[in-house]
Amino acid sequence: MKRVLLKLSGEALSGDKGFGFDEATCMMVAKQVKKLVDDGVQVGVVIGGGNFWRGRSSENIDRTKADQIGMLATVMNCIYVSEIFRAAGMRTSVLTPFECGNCSKLYSKDRANKYFERGMVVFFAGGTGHPYFSTDTATVLRAVEIEADVILLAKSIDGVYDSDPAKNPDAKRYDKVSIQEVIDKKLQVVDMTASVIAMEQQMPMYVFSLNEEDSIVKAISGKFNGTVVCV
Ligand code: UDP
Repeated sequence: MKRVLLKLSGEALSGDKGFGFDEATCMMVAKQVKKLVDDGVQVGVVIGGGNFWRGRSSENIDRTKADQIGMLATVMNCIYVSEIFRAAGMRTSVLTPFECGNCSKLYSKDRANKYFERGMVVFFAGGTGHPYFSTDTATVLRAVEIEADVILLAKSIDGVYDSDPAKNPDAKRYDKVSIQEVIDKKLQVVDMTASVIAMEQQMPMYVFSLNEEDSIVKAISGKFNGTVVCV
């Protein structure tokens, strides 16, 4: 693996609190990513915003405005985690698809490539920059653009199941599943828009739990406890 895109959900950052940041969790992620970087892997990161806000969080305000708040939540998350990564000894950069003053730099593929070549971890903050999309979509889009080898989907659940294991004790986990099957059966991996882009652009995904020790490091080896979503 030369280049990977790691997707972290906003909730994953908040640990047991369910809101805001949990520094210990973020440092645990940072230490794992440092091992990848030290091994010469180029790492891009997309972070969700659910630990602060989702576009669906209010029924009263305009959806476009609500989604803008969500996108800004992902920028806060990226700035925070970027700083934790720096504290763990990595060089980082935060890119956004819209101007954010001196909080970030404007995203372009060339700029991302330049930072990757310098050994920096590149945070793709602000989602796609458009309302009605999600950081799932941003993850697949950026992974395709930067020609990542794989998307690492670190979740609170340890893979892809045929039904919700929280509701169905007989739910079965897939070791391997095609993205076509994910779409046909509406399996919970990434949202439908993101799934279709992943299928069309043939972008594989490894799904695993962030709660398992060293799961990010294990995932990159391809031998991990989780599900391979193949193309
Ligand atoms: N968001 C958006 N466009 C994007 C990415 C995110 O509008 O390209 C907003 C949207 O409101 C979303 C929130 O940011 O609810 C947080 O993103 P995340 O992907 O974590 O949200 P979720 O999929 O959980 O709603």
